[in-house]
Amino acid sequence: MMKENTSALTSANTVFNSLAKGVCPVCWLGRAFQNELIERLHTEDAEVVCNYHAWAIAAAAPASSAAEVFLSMLRGEGREKSRKEHASCDLCTSIREHEATRLRELATEMRRTRFSQWLERYGTLCSFHGKSLQFMVSEEHAWIITKVIKNNRQQLEELLEAFASKARSGEHTGGGALGRAAEFLVAQRGLIR
Ligand SMILES: [Zn+2]
Ligand SMILES: [Zn+2]
Repeated sequence: MMKENTSALTSANTVFNSLAKGVCPVCWLGRAFQNELIERLHTEDAEVVCNYHAWAIAAAAPASSAAEVFLSMLRGEGREKSRKEHASCDLCTSIREHEATRLRELATEMRRTRFSQWLERYGTLCSFHGKSLQFMVSEEHAWIITKVIKNNRQQLEELLEAFASKARSGEHTGGGALGRAAEFLVAQRGLIR
């Protein structure tokens, strides 16, 4: 048996863990990465931020680091950088790099027959990450992804129909369906295109 290196094994396990939860693994890991980024924020990680991430920092970063990040912005310390790099958000950039890594891992995993068979039957992918992944895999695997997206769309339609009919009669439980639909349609919150 081939020895796998530990870091590949760990990241594969994380992809597996999130898949087992019935959520898009790239969204799930992306959201966890984003939360961690905001919780452990340093001024140099966020010199330029978009509207969404400025408010995410205000709402969720530890008070002292959020204040330092905003102070540094007010003093224009990241100004040179924003001029040079067309003012793209530092957090969006880090998150996009993270997403690309996770997608590459998933594309590699799909070469294992048992994994692609499992994904075909039970997998969840949001439409955005599903489509991104299709560009990175063989034609045969791209077809499996089309099937996964189609299955997920069908499941969500059923879930939302049930939710809508309950909501019409005044019952508002099962709101998780709305979050799942949003994730399927546009990927997780903050994974901005
Ligand atoms: Zn996704
Ligand atoms: Zn951003």
